[in-house]
Amino acid sequence: MLAQRTRLFKSSGTAAARTAAQAAVASGDEIIDLTAGEIWSDLAPSVREGAIAAIDRNENRYTDTLGLIELRHALARKISSETAQPWSADEIAVTSGAKQALFNAAMVLLNPGDEVLIPTPYWTTFPAQVVVAGGKPVFIETRQNNFVPRLADLAVLVTPKTRAIVVNTPNNPTGAVYDRDSLAGIAQLAIERDLWIIYDECYGAFAHAPHAHHPIVSVMPRARDRTLIVNSFSKSLALTGWRIGYLAGPNTVISAVKALQSHTTSNPNVIAQHALLHHLQCGDPSFEVQLHRRVANARELGLSILSALKLEPQPSAQGGFYFYLDCSELLRSAKVNSRDLNVDDVVSTLLTDAGVATVSGTAFGDPAGIRLSYGIDLELLDRGLRRLTATLNELTFCFARRL
Ligand code: PLP
Repeated sequence: MLAQRTRLFKSSGTAAARTAAQAAVASGDEIIDLTAGEIWSDLAPSVREGAIAAIDRNENRYTDTLGLIELRHALARKISSETAQPWSADEIAVTSGAKQALFNAAMVLLNPGDEVLIPTPYWTTFPAQVVVAGGKPVFIETRQNNFVPRLADLAVLVTPKTRAIVVNTPNNPTGAVYDRDSLAGIAQLAIERDLWIIYDECYGAFAHAPHAHHPIVSVMPRARDRTLIVNSFSKSLALTGWRIGYLAGPNTVISAVKALQSHTTSNPNVIAQHALLHHLQCGDPSFEVQLHRRVANARELGLSILSALKLEPQPSAQGGFYFYLDCSELLRSAKVNSRDLNVDDVVSTLLTDAGVATVSGTAFGDPAGIRLSYGIDLELLDRGLRRLTATLNELTFCFARRL
């Protein structure tokens, strides 16, 4: 009854994990939810003020499809300062979150059968959108190289059909932050093999020292005309529900995006646009600084609790707000003991025995990892991670008595 297209995708793995956590809560269990891809925070005062002022002015009409021109100018200034290159408003589309920016990019760039290189573990929506747009995701393993793709591994996968590469740094789910050399190598490859770079820097505000986030167009200015920058305020301003982000790239792409967006959502929510414009015009970074500090404190607390894990290596958590646990050793021990155990079983055990909801690596194309979000309240994080650590160590005890 439904279109064949519906067989190409299913609900996102992270959304499914959240639903499972909520179902457990509804059945009366005391669950600590580490599945969320967002930071628990109040609104930034400037965002609140901007939104209320817009409502008081009766802002209720359509804006330009690509967003208010003042907002696009303000974003151009922001990107110019971040990349140390001049950007103009006609190179920017304001979108309903980064998800729409990515979807627009896939729809305007891909022909049927075009291949897109996606490092694994990947944020679950990247391959889903490529498939919906008629393309073919091609995956590159990264675990052996601290979750950053090796250039040689990328190069051998480029074929005449390869159209684009997705670069997501800081990375969801692994927390890896790509260094300058890796970015330069990828950009050079894209130039040599005529590829687009989809540069998702949604977590760019959360690189943890000594790691730093670098815009790829600053590292390799020659790659600018083949790069689409994807960003959003979902993470940097803790505004996931407001659905506001942007796509920045060559004017020809942005014009095509305008035509597409005019037939899908039209402009992003007008109140969110005015709120963001007000925030950008205020120029006060104190909210972002405070949010970053909170995330950094949560990271420190989390790493100190997770250091008690017997089998899983300490996650590097270079950026973003996720710990990505590598359960390979635990799963191998289970095999040695001839008991089948996969990472989904570990996630279920954590939910039932520890009362902690996490996301299985299978949602990210990885059969050995577990993602834990540390964007939640500190006290809950503390309790959740202690329970999780105890439960994983018990599992370790069952399967790896040699330790
Ligand atoms: N890109 C990455 C890597 C993400 O993790 C997410 C959300 O989790 C998005 C894009 C989408 O962000 P938004 O809420 O702005 O659509």
